[in-house]
Amino acid sequence: MPGKRSWRKLVKKYQRQRRRQRCAQERDHEQMQRELDPAYQIWMQQQAELEEFQRLAAERQQQDMEEAWLRREALAQRQFRVDLAKRRQEEAELERLREQQFQELAAREKVQRERREERQRMVQEAAAEFEAMMQRMHDFLENAEQRSPPPDLQRVAETRPEEKPCEFFTRTNSCRFGLHCTFNHKRPMLARILLIRHFFTHPLLHSDVHKEYATADADLELNERDLRNDYDEFFADVVPELEKFGRILNFRAVRNTLAHLRGHVFVEYEQERSALRAFINLQGRYYASRRLNVEFSNLKTWRGAVCGM
Ligand SMILES: [Zn+2]
Repeated sequence: MPGKRSWRKLVKKYQRQRRRQRCAQERDHEQMQRELDPAYQIWMQQQAELEEFQRLAAERQQQDMEEAWLRREALAQRQFRVDLAKRRQEEAELERLREQQFQELAAREKVQRERREERQRMVQEAAAEFEAMMQRMHDFLENAEQRSPPPDLQRVAETRPEEKPCEFFTRTNSCRFGLHCTFNHKRPMLARILLIRHFFTHPLLHSDVHKEYATADADLELNERDLRNDYDEFFADVVPELEKFGRILNFRAVRNTLAHLRGHVFVEYEQERSALRAFINLQGRYYASRRLNVEFSNLKTWRGAVCGM
């Protein structure tokens, strides 16, 4: 059995329910009343129109946003395509340059290789030519009955036959421009005079040392004597050796401090064959630990070529 308290609780609950139902009924009634009111109906209509308007506005806004997005997207796509085309063009250009560089490098290398081969070929040819010439000289020397040398030994080698003769080379058999000289250098293949380049060496023949030494007359005199003594020693040393090949008419050393003339020695033999014998024998020989550089000379006068000694 429910007690007194729980009974009251039940009653209260029932009363609350009743109250709520009543309220709802009243509200429904009020609502119905309101809906029947024309003003309310107009208001409702306006509300509906407003809502519709707002819905349309929102829709349009959404549409605008979508269109804007599409436009941006299309723009981005186009930009992307432009960029891609540009990048491809740049890459193609880069590739073209790389290819061009490669071609140029290959062409340069080819030219260098050809030049190297050409130089090598010329060196080989010169060596072969030299060998052949030495052989002809030997043959001529061996054959005592043969009066005059073979034609190719009577030849005069010219560096630039079409140009004027080089004044320096003609006078001294030396030219500081060497093979780069624009004038013609003529050398005989055979002659009575031999030129041995830089044969006599002495510190005083180096101009800078000479200047340094020549501070006082006493020193100068002393050095002159020193140079003379050394030269006499050199003369006594080499002349007997050179006389082994034949009678010598002249032995002259160039007393000049210029690098391309320094210490040059001219040896004039009485006989061409003696000079030839000396030439062949001195090839590849060393003097004062320097390899001898021997050639034939067509010097006309000593005055132009030789100063002093
Ligand atoms: Zn010259």
